[in-house]
Amino acid sequence: MTSQSGQPRILVTFGTRPEAIKMFPVVAALRETGQCDVKVVVTAQHRELLDSVLDLAGLRPDLDLDLMLPNQSLDGLTARILTRFGEALDHLRPDRVLVHGDTLTTMAASMACYFRRIPVGHVEAGLRSGDIYSPWPEEVNRKVTGVIADLHFAPTETSAAALRAENVREKSIHVTGNTVIDALLFARAKIAAEPSLAPAIAPLRERFAGKRIIAVTAHRRENFGSGMAGIAQALQELASREDVAVIYPLHPNPNVSDVMRPALGGHDNIALTTPLDYLDFVAMMEAADIVLTDSGGIQEEAPSLGKPVLVMRDTTERPEGITAGTARLVGTDPAVIVREASRLLDDRSAYLTMARAHNPYGEGHAASRVAALAVEASRSR
Ligand code: UDP
Repeated sequence: MTSQSGQPRILVTFGTRPEAIKMFPVVAALRETGQCDVKVVVTAQHRELLDSVLDLAGLRPDLDLDLMLPNQSLDGLTARILTRFGEALDHLRPDRVLVHGDTLTTMAASMACYFRRIPVGHVEAGLRSGDIYSPWPEEVNRKVTGVIADLHFAPTETSAAALRAENVREKSIHVTGNTVIDALLFARAKIAAEPSLAPAIAPLRERFAGKRIIAVTAHRRENFGSGMAGIAQALQELASREDVAVIYPLHPNPNVSDVMRPALGGHDNIALTTPLDYLDFVAMMEAADIVLTDSGGIQEEAPSLGKPVLVMRDTTERPEGITAGTARLVGTDPAVIVREASRLLDDRSAYLTMARAHNPYGEGHAASRVAALAVEASRSR
């Protein structure tokens, strides 16, 4: 429905922390156009992690579906999003919906739109690992969304090419850069202006002064079990070096914390923290020499800060970083993780080659491109 102002109504939806980080710049850019009525609906598929980003961005959702339940199953959560987001669509009647990435929110919200013939724009479209079980269930979430969407905002030429290979209409594909860089630049500017906004990191810098810092995150479903055990072993070995310290914000999922706390807690050279607010997290990456992660977004952010990334997965849907030389796939075999991290710590020229490689994810103007294209498409309907 066109709003009372006569402007098209664009509804933005997301449910997790990484989506919120990558979509708050889009909401701000849509509002800045002054040419659409923007509504924000959060499913809150993750609760606390999402709220800290909403606070940072000063974003008040028009509707908060608050769908997270303890031990939620993939099918139960999908069903709840589908029905509750469908009701939200019936209530708010947008002209277009923008979804992000590859979560259950992305897929189920797109399906609810499809059932009502509401067009969908997909931000961060075209990422593909080629393996439907890695990352799981994200690879299928984004493929389903890609089938429904009529606007595909591909972050890079590589992701645009993946869409073309699936016969997506050329005119519907737009290479925009990744909005995570917009968010990262926003966060860096905030920290630079007011360092006290990132309070968790200064004490750790002091505690680990003179040491090389390895920043770590690991939370992927495919790594639960033996993968997590391998990562824990690698971190124990790396932290046994006198000159190395590890900072690891632990994901709250018990499949992660129940393995990592007993293996790594109490070690002099390891700081296990709760999940960090985004500004603290960015400050941690800035303080680090190397980033070890199985996360998607961090593979895109760390290169913008000149930090080499070792990706603790067997596949990645973000090959651009590997090709550009900013990231390397190391899997979860502890011997390989330790070998590759040690090489970066001990071989200055190997380190600089990765640290200085070109960041392929854009310069921080993705959100305004997405907003302009979404508004244009909504007006021309
Ligand atoms: N992040 C954060 N605090 C943390 C860990 C991660 O703010 O303790 C941010 C990180 O900077 C990135 C995003 O969360 O922007 C990545 O989220 P995650 O690794 O959970 O998901 P993925 O990117 O793999 O979907």
